[in-house]
Amino acid sequence: MNATAYIGLGSNLDNPQRQIEWALNALARLPQTDLEAAAPRYRSRAVGPGNQPDYINTAARLRTGLEPHSLLRELQALETARGRLRDQHWGPRTLDLDILLYDQLSLADPELTIPHPRLAERNFVLLPLHDLNPDLILPDGTALARLLAQADRTGIVRL
Ligand code: ADP
Ligand code: MG
Repeated sequence: MNATAYIGLGSNLDNPQRQIEWALNALARLPQTDLEAAAPRYRSRAVGPGNQPDYINTAARLRTGLEPHSLLRELQALETARGRLRDQHWGPRTLDLDILLYDQLSLADPELTIPHPRLAERNFVLLPLHDLNPDLILPDGTALARLLAQADRTGIVRL
């Protein structure tokens, strides 16, 4: 257990609250991993194609011995277990699990980019991350609190 990873969770299909509940339980059971904390949940309007249902979003802090790519594979297996289809980019999904941060690691390869590439522009990521740790500093030195201060708060409510 030598890394702290922050995971973003989102769902807008098939009872999103239940999907998030299921996902948090599943994260707690990942190998070599402890679920340390889960943020409050947020309801946010969908971005992406068409007229989609609202999202439920939250974030979780893990302590894990899994390497980043192993962690990604575990998360993708959980998404698949909830019947997520990978057909439509940014389409509706039963479960989306993203690695937001992994210690102070910066990484970009074809499968995995850490910090998550759209972290800074998504209020539904910034808000629950800030709930988990208001003092977070990104690997490039940016304070999470500063990103949040600049973030648009429309279309999102804390539940
Ligand atoms: P998003 O989560 O941005 O809405 P998707 O979940 O559809 O979009 O994107 C899935 C792809 O993003 C995966 O195939 C994965 O390889 C890639 N990816 C790159 N970086 C990450 C990351 N930090 N966490 C999760 N997936 C990532
Ligand atoms: Mg994703």
